Amino acid sequence: MIISQEQVFGQVYDLCVVGSGPGGLMVAMEYARLNPDQKVLLVEYGELGGTGKNGLDDGIINHNPTNHHDPYECTNKGFGGTSATWGGRCVLYDPVDFIDRPSLNGGCTWDPSLFEECRPYVDAAAAYFECGRGGFDLRDIKEARVGPIAQGFSSDEVTDSALERWSMPTRFGVRYRDDLAKSKNIHLLTGWEARDFGEVSDAQIIESLDFRSLDGGRNMTVRARDFVVAAGTQETTRLLLRNPRVFVRRGGVPTALGCYYQGHLSGKIASVQFHGDPRQTDYDFGRDSDGCYYRRRFQFDPEFLVREDLLNTAIWLDNPLYHDPSHGSGAMSAMYLAMVTPVLGKRLAPPAIAHSITKGRVNRLPRHVWNVLKGLPGSLWIPASIFFRRYCLKRKLPGIFLYNRKNRYALHFHAEQIPHFENRMVLAPDGETLEIHYHLTDRDVESVIRLHEVLDQSLQKNGCGELRYWFSREELPEAIRAMSRDGIHQSGTTRIADEPEKGVVDRNLRVWGTRNLHLCSSSAFPTSGQANPTFMLGVFALRLARHLSERHETS
Ligand SMILES: Cc1cc2nc3c(=O)[nH]c(=O)nc-3n(C[C@H](O)[C@H](O)[C@H](O)COP(=O)(O)OP(=O)(O)OC[C@H]3O[C@@H](n4cnc5c(N)ncnc54)[C@H](O)[C@@H]3O)c2cc1C
Repeated sequence: MIISQEQVFGQVYDLCVVGSGPGGLMVAMEYARLNPDQKVLLVEYGELGGTGKNGLDDGIINHNPTNHHDPYECTNKGFGGTSATWGGRCVLYDPVDFIDRPSLNGGCTWDPSLFEECRPYVDAAAAYFECGRGGFDLRDIKEARVGPIAQGFSSDEVTDSALERWSMPTRFGVRYRDDLAKSKNIHLLTGWEARDFGEVSDAQIIESLDFRSLDGGRNMTVRARDFVVAAGTQETTRLLLRNPRVFVRRGGVPTALGCYYQGHLSGKIASVQFHGDPRQTDYDFGRDSDGCYYRRRFQFDPEFLVREDLLNTAIWLDNPLYHDPSHGSGAMSAMYLAMVTPVLGKRLAPPAIAHSITKGRVNRLPRHVWNVLKGLPGSLWIPASIFFRRYCLKRKLPGIFLYNRKNRYALHFHAEQIPHFENRMVLAPDGETLEIHYHLTDRDVESVIRLHEVLDQSLQKNGCGELRYWFSREELPEAIRAMSRDGIHQSGTTRIADEPEKGVVDRNLRVWGTRNLHLCSSSAFPTSGQANPTFMLGVFALRLARHLSERHETS
């Protein structure tokens, strides 16, 4: 039920969850489902319909605008959190992400047994995300046509059956608002910012958390038996940095807090020219029996990655660069022109997604117009049909991939980053502003290049195809550094570790030095893998809800 501040007064909740993004909503809803006799308070900073300009985003300094999006492009504040604009790509972490490799410099502070403990929650998480019934490999989908991704392809170090699945995309605030409004044991309060934790007792228990109203004019203390902070990576980290007293029973603030910040390297440095029949290239989305979209990608054999000490990376078939009219496609030029049109472009996609298409360039417009005219009527009806499937249907077409008669596709990489101590979120001297330091290391960049070479060799060996680079070998590192921009997939700053000296939370997401404070955020993931983080966050949220319930039963 949606409540007001007055209704919180005098209550002691069984569970208080801070933040209503996918992480917070899933842990609150699952806990309430498992414990119908208990009271859950879900407190959200933003408002029910979303919050525009706000103090949290204004209080962030991004020191690397080349490789990190501006704060307002990275998260949303409001009921449902950043799911208000997320793309909906659901990817499971891989077992290799839990295996230490030399180049991670001891940064892999979780282990493969934790991945196995998470597996039982995958199907239930998929139901919340509305992305089909589990299965992140083509062979898991009974109705799929299981053949090679392109004629002549054969798996070796490179595989072609791993899948990404697609959510509606589910906007958690919109999708679950009625459920919360009707819920008897979840109380939802919006417009309040979590600020200060109460003292940690000798028994390592925190009894209260203070909130401040959005306008800054009122304060409120919430009492609860358990607290879960699910405020997104940035704000979960900032809240802990602002509250060193939380760590008093641990012996001080963890060295890892705020450090090892990771995202993904992402971009395009090459095309693939397949040599076989273009009609046999599996470039597009498939749909499973639930109607959910999925798409296959190139990945790399885990044993090979460990042996060669390379970073986990996915590479998928993509369209050529939209902004470069030499692609000759009228449909692509029409979509590019729509994206760079002021007002219209902003309505079609959130800034981070729009940037991935336009690259921020307004480029050779007359050539684009010529492409559109030359390609009529397809230049207009293809975008129109895409527009209908992408904006007018409940389950939206997640992206646009166009058939290429010449069997040539751009390759898009999405790569793991090394957990690097210097990549970090720190508080400025005012104790409020969050400064973000984020850079790519040489090792990150070299791994991307090396894995493109591995893919090229594999394709050539089988006579399946070859890579055509867009840059000379010498230009590649700089090109990758210039094109790669993240900040929307945030992880690493409150990492899991089995020893308090190495991390911030234990494997059950409990903050070291406390017994009743847990985090539910991808900030707890020590490695970033190739996967977008939100699906795995959902898996952890369900596992946390179960863990808290079982703890309650035994206490
Ligand atoms: C444009 C874009 C596209 C994306 N696409 C994908 C994708 O395709 N696949 C994918 O896996 N991920 C994607 N992401 C990332 C994804 O949105 C996040 O991983 C996900 O939303 C994180 O969920 P969360 O619950 O941890 O945090 P959030 O969704 O950010 O929610 C946190 C909530 O906590 C609230 N809050 C913050 N501080 C406080 C406080 N002090 N007190 C009270 N409340 C507070 C915030 O207002 C917010 O509502 C995308 C992100 C962006 C920006």
